[in-house]
Formats: sequence, C-alpha cells, structure tokens
Amino acid sequence: MNPAIVSPAAIHEYLHSRSGWIRGVEWASGRRYLPARFSDRSTPLFLVAYSFRDTRAARQLSLAVEQDWSLAPDSCRDAYDAILFQAPGLMVIQLRRSNVCGCLGHLHPAVRERAFAEPHDALGRVAAGEMDLAYRRIEAWQALPLSDTALDARFLEGSRLEDFRTKQFRLKMLSIILHETHHLVSPQEPENAIRERSLSFYHDALAAYVENATATLSLTIDRSFYRFG
Ligand SMILES: [Zn+2]
Repeated sequence: MNPAIVSPAAIHEYLHSRSGWIRGVEWASGRRYLPARFSDRSTPLFLVAYSFRDTRAARQLSLAVEQDWSLAPDSCRDAYDAILFQAPGLMVIQLRRSNVCGCLGHLHPAVRERAFAEPHDALGRVAAGEMDLAYRRIEAWQALPLSDTALDARFLEGSRLEDFRTKQFRLKMLSIILHETHHLVSPQEPENAIRERSLSFYHDALAAYVENATATLSLTIDRSFYRFG
C-alpha cells in the first residue's frame, strides 16, 4: 500500500469547503478537529475529533504525536516503521472522556465521523481508518504498575512530578494509537504480540524521559553545590 499524503492544510480547506449550514450545525454541536503528524513522517495524518469541552486533552494528544514521538528513542520508533508505512493516509481519532464498555480505546471497522465517512476528492480520496480513545480511562490506567511506580518515585513532589505525570499520560495515549494502528494494519496478529510492542514503546519512551529529566536535575544540584562550596 502506498497511501496518499494528506496535509493539515488540506484538512482545513476541505472542512471549510463544506456548506455554511453543515459547518454551523457542527460548530454549535461543539465538534472540533485537530490534525497532528509525526515530525519525521508524512503519513499517516492523525485527525483528533473531539468536543470543545475536551480541548485540553485534545491538545495533549496532538503534543504526544508531534513532540513526544520524536523524543522517543530511535529503537521505539523503528519498531513501528513498517506498521506506519502500511497505515492508511488518514487516521481519525475520536477522543472521548469514557466508553460505556470501559475499554481504553477501540479500532472501528469503518469511519463513523460524518465529515470523513466518505472519501473526498479534496483529500485525494485518501484511505482512512478510525479509532476511539477514552482519555479519562487512559489517565487512570496503570499501564505497567511496577515500573511506573519505580519511575514515579524518582521525582519527589511539585512541578517535576506533575511534568512526569503529564508526559506519562501523553505516552499512554501515544502507545494506544500505535497499538490500534498496528491492529488495523495486521488484523491477523494476536493481541498479546500487539500489546507487547505497544507496552515496550511506552516503557522505553518513559524510561528515556526519566533518565533525561533526572540527569538535568542532578546537574542543577551539582551547580548549586559548586556555587556555595
Ligand atoms: Zn489490542
């Protein structure tokens, strides 16, 4: 598969090309869209579809795609290279607070988001996939209880612990969208293999962040010793 490339600008243009009536109803219902792309790949384009009440979570998700991905170790990104290469050009992510079933996310058999349910000329009739994410569930989810607690304990309190928890939330979301994209690309692959890959991504990316954050922390302490010594 060689997916067509859809740019954030093309999405914007397409959304604005629709009738004023449709856009008005959509806006009034609170529907918003936020495109996000990995900095080192032109496909897939992730399109976060969310309610204006969930703007904060939608921004965190786009940061996960646009920043956290490129900060993850090379080995983490390489593990998804072939998978992302085969992914459809457009991946719609319906961001929700929770799911009735209690799952963190699902892959949808077809695109349900109305604006993207049909292929459009304006988007080069790009192939599209769709998933949903329940972000409050994800926030509360203990991805790897033992190693998460060990990493958590390396930050005491205050702003560094808060930064850590925000990063952790974003990496959980990122690992889930990679997980669902993997399911889409390899429908035959067993759940445990797909899960193992996405949890390794999460674990290794979070561990690398902690290494980096604690290294700069000890550097600051050393400097202050030097100054008062
Ligand atoms: Zn799964």
